[in-house]
Amino acid sequence: MTEQDIKEIKTLLSSPKQVVIVPHKNPDGDAMGSCLGLYHYLIKNNHHAKVIAPNDYPDFLKWLPGNADVMVYESDKNSAESLIENAEIIFTLDFNALHRAGDMETLLENSKAIKIMIDHHQQPHDYATYIYSDVAMSSTCEMVYDFIDLLGDAPTIDAAIATSLYAGILTDTGSFRFPSSTSKTHRVAANLIDKGANHSDIYNSIYDTNSYERLQLLGVALKNLKVIPEYRTAYITLSQDELNAANFKKGDTEGFVNYGLSIKNIVFAAIFIEHKQEGIIKISLRSEGEFSVNAFSSENFDGGGHTNAAGGKSDLSLIDTVEKFISILPRYKNNLNP
Ligand code: 5GP
Ligand code: MN
Repeated sequence: MTEQDIKEIKTLLSSPKQVVIVPHKNPDGDAMGSCLGLYHYLIKNNHHAKVIAPNDYPDFLKWLPGNADVMVYESDKNSAESLIENAEIIFTLDFNALHRAGDMETLLENSKAIKIMIDHHQQPHDYATYIYSDVAMSSTCEMVYDFIDLLGDAPTIDAAIATSLYAGILTDTGSFRFPSSTSKTHRVAANLIDKGANHSDIYNSIYDTNSYERLQLLGVALKNLKVIPEYRTAYITLSQDELNAANFKKGDTEGFVNYGLSIKNIVFAAIFIEHKQEGIIKISLRSEGEFSVNAFSSENFDGGGHTNAAGGKSDLSLIDTVEKFISILPRYKNNLNP
């Protein structure tokens, strides 16, 4: 994002506009937090703004300020389509390619609105009028903070903006433990606390709202955990039957993949989750250190993300997907266990 870009965006936002803000499909804390943080900022500046999520998101995010105003495309297609048709500006947040917006892809592609991307994923596609992409950033929420700051408006950040942005920084940094959280990330977080984000309440709202069933499902996941020491790899499987038995709800498996990485000497962790209805296995990948799960996912599982956190999918059965995964590992032996 150049100084000229900022100047143009400032001019653009100097009068009320029709704005749509879109996170990626299956939005996580960073996606919803960044969208709602930006939403509160735009509303405060007299714009007509709407967050439209491609599909539903987990209950542990539904306390975020402004949640009641979020539209879900999947369950409100007509209203969403007319908002997008009339939009003058569309912000796309926390994703790097239009297909990540799921069923909203074509709508966004065909829209004549000025598009502004704010994102920290690798290999951003060139679909937006203004691209603010920085893969070194901890989170899109940190970037939205910087974006507001670049526009000269950091002093106007209020509790609603601060709470939304803090929530996304917290979730995307694994509670400030991933290497991507820098001293500056902490300074931004500190500023957000000064503006009214209650760090303790936010943590509790996100992480201390487990259902009994979710903990039972975690038990199943941990029982299914397998370790392949020669590749310093661990993986978990969850079948649709296992999910059903635990009364699975969206978001219940969030964070499970990290347990693999918590084992001593393990640097690569995966979880394979069967989604019978969609006919796919959803894959989450995590690594510690140099090994790029972004590359591993884009080379093998039609996905991507960051060096240390990525996702992907497979059309094979759960068993065949795991078999494919294991058969690929030798190709990465030098990276995994040099
Ligand atoms: P998660 O494993 O938590 O779903 O995702 C980890 C990271 O990878 C997130 O930053 C997410 O946006 C990204 N990601 C997840 N699934 C996909 C996918 O199918 N394709 C791409 N390109 N990125 C993904
Ligand atoms: Mn993110």
